[in-house]
Amino acid sequence: MDVIKPFDPWKSKLCTCGDKYSFNPYTGCMHGCLYCYATYIPRFYSVRLKKRLLTRLEKDLKRLDLKKPISMSNSSDPYPPIEKKHGITRKCIELMRDYGVKLLVVTKSDIVARDADILSEMKCCVSVTVTGFKFARILEPNAPPPEKRIEAMRELKNAGIPVVLRLDPILPFINEDEVEEVLEKCNFVDHVVTSTLKLRGDSFRRIVSAIPWLEERYRNLYFKFGKKVQNSWYLAKNLRLKILRKVEEKCNEMGISCAFCREGFPFKAKSCDGQHLLS
Ligand code: SF4
Repeated sequence: MDVIKPFDPWKSKLCTCGDKYSFNPYTGCMHGCLYCYATYIPRFYSVRLKKRLLTRLEKDLKRLDLKKPISMSNSSDPYPPIEKKHGITRKCIELMRDYGVKLLVVTKSDIVARDADILSEMKCCVSVTVTGFKFARILEPNAPPPEKRIEAMRELKNAGIPVVLRLDPILPFINEDEVEEVLEKCNFVDHVVTSTLKLRGDSFRRIVSAIPWLEERYRNLYFKFGKKVQNSWYLAKNLRLKILRKVEEKCNEMGISCAFCREGFPFKAKSCDGQHLLS
């Protein structure tokens, strides 16, 4: 395999994703999210094109067992602003449609709605991240505004495409009080997946440099009372449970399935990443 790889959740025992492949049409991401978990990739915040991508993708598609879905993308966004000009992701989706791929799209961009025509011809589900409204410009400085992402989700849903809201991550003191508002504005989605912020050294530095009053609070919540799991710091279990239950309860009230991402708590939804919506 060359450009399509087995999905690798960094060997996390807490990952509940079903078996799937991972495909990133671009290297790096311009959205600049402070909490990003993929910044181990060199020069991460600049987007690069991949050489001969379509040829390489087709070679992989010919060789793979396509009963497993492909997730696009897990360590970049398939819809950076330059996608409007290059249309690379669109060409990749066209090719994957021709090979009968089951596709899980994960994005933070409203550009995805442009491809509703092709996506509606495939077994596909689109996950869009919306973390909140008040801090979006600080947390996700170059990503399209959350209102535009919600509009895009609505367009996709109206085109008959299953849509997942990624309410992820939830950051203490920042967006935990906006959870209900986000869910109410996205009340048309098919599924919700949520998680609390996991901190690494670099994301901690980015977050507290943009929001200095969080520094002491996060030092306490994560490094004093939290727990290190592999390379990330988690909040204390009772605090995570309290935050996540609030999302779950609101989803229950709205009749929407809800799952947690890498939290280690059980959930009733048939999958976390929306694979159950692919049939
Ligand atoms: S959109 Fe995703 S990959 Fe891009 S910077 Fe934000 S969290 Fe990282």
